[in-house]
Amino acid sequence: MQSGPLKEQHIGIIGGSIAGLAVGASLLQLGAKVTILERSEHPLEGRGAGIVLPEPLIQQCIAANLFDKDISRLSVSHRSFITQSHQSIWDQPIAVMCLNWSDIYSQLRKRIPDSHYHQGKMVETLSQTEKVYHLQTQDGSSYSFDFLIGADGIHSGVRNAFFSETTYHYAGYIAWRGVIPLNEVKSNELFSEHIPYFVYPNGHLLLYIIPGQQTDAPLLNWVMYEICSQADLENKLIDTDGNKHEVSIPPGGLNKETQKHLHLFATTHLPSDIAQIICHTEKPFLQAVYDLKAPKVLQDQTCLIGDAALILRPHSASGVVKALMDSLSLVKAFETNDFEAWQQQQQLKAEQLFFISQNMGQGLVAQTPPWSEMTPTLMEEWWNNIMAGKTWHYTPSTLNQKLTVQYDQTIEEQKKVSPTNETKNETKKIAKTTLS
Ligand SMILES: Cc1cc2nc3c(=O)[nH]c(=O)nc-3n(C[C@H](O)[C@H](O)[C@H](O)COP(=O)(O)OP(=O)(O)OC[C@H]3O[C@@H](n4cnc5c(N)ncnc54)[C@H](O)[C@@H]3O)c2cc1C
Repeated sequence: MQSGPLKEQHIGIIGGSIAGLAVGASLLQLGAKVTILERSEHPLEGRGAGIVLPEPLIQQCIAANLFDKDISRLSVSHRSFITQSHQSIWDQPIAVMCLNWSDIYSQLRKRIPDSHYHQGKMVETLSQTEKVYHLQTQDGSSYSFDFLIGADGIHSGVRNAFFSETTYHYAGYIAWRGVIPLNEVKSNELFSEHIPYFVYPNGHLLLYIIPGQQTDAPLLNWVMYEICSQADLENKLIDTDGNKHEVSIPPGGLNKETQKHLHLFATTHLPSDIAQIICHTEKPFLQAVYDLKAPKVLQDQTCLIGDAALILRPHSASGVVKALMDSLSLVKAFETNDFEAWQQQQQLKAEQLFFISQNMGQGLVAQTPPWSEMTPTLMEEWWNNIMAGKTWHYTPSTLNQKLTVQYDQTIEEQKKVSPTNETKNETKKIAKTTLS
């Protein structure tokens, strides 16, 4: 596919979250004519919670003027797997930066003038004549674009209109999530540069510290998994006002019965001091885990990026990583005018990320090993089976060997902020954590 020179085209972006904002901001910097249509009438701040990213990607976003140099982030150098009796069965080096979703959103958003970002614009109809795309929004406005970017998430209307129909599949389990002010958790040194995974049969809880939004105090972000039948999921997706949701319940929206279940689940499966963190979280929320991979991401003058193209299970911590990388690579395709090569690279990347995120879901939730019998050696074997020779952008050796190809800024910066730990293979007792 050949597209015309960048400055002569009017590019429409449907969806003004991470993927839409990142590609929009980059295209504006190149002098393109860009309009972003976002259905939400309000800023999206507060929609997500903690996000982890690899430092080389943050550096790439800084270099591309998508993030400020000093975007708040906290470095993590290892994670450990801990049983209900507080025994650490494996300590694994990882190279992770923890951020607040709202900071990422607001840094991208401030780079886009309001004249290019139209809020409260829910795209309802899409059609194509020759090389022009025609859109109508719920409020009756009409738009025409030469190039259309679908950054409209899991239910993507762009995907449904212009690509072969692809639907998402429920993975059979849910993620409970929440944030709690760190100063409400006593003895919180357990979380310093470290992500503990409290494991139980068919799931785990992981916790990490994120910066508070702007100048607020740091928060402890947590994610906990539970197997859940489709029928049970439908009940859990009814919010406190009786409204049915399709994929998630936002913070504060869990109905009383679901919240009671969450507390019981936490106290049954976690060490008691850790369960208290879940039970004291003011506005926990719920996200059903889905899989989706669009067979194509380019069709004529339209393409899909972010969750519209690929939904990854949260274990690989790649949703936002992918949204940013898709945006950066698409901008390069506009510059080189080689969209077919972009599509091919996207598909290869999607295959790999989809494979490892599903495998991680199998090993960490659907078919967990007998945790209490696991030794560090068995855990390493278990992990190697999950990865099956593939690479993960949070594995320090992977960063050193492979990601130099994908990320421009690399290892020296990474080493400065996130020194790699030696693997600690001993089993050890973990200090207890309490709420103040
Ligand atoms: C509840 C929840 C919590 C999450 N937490 C994390 C996390 O902690 N860490 C992590 O890495 N990932 C997390 N994710 C995943 C991560 O948010 C996504 O992978 C990432 O936001 C993808 O960005 P995106 O821009 O592609 O899609 P989205 O963020 O889904 O954005 C799509 C946008 O399109 C808009 N839109 C949709 N349809 C239309 C339309 N017809 N007209 C106009 N606008 C439209 C939507 O309003 C939305 O703003 C979470 C996802 C959910 C649902």
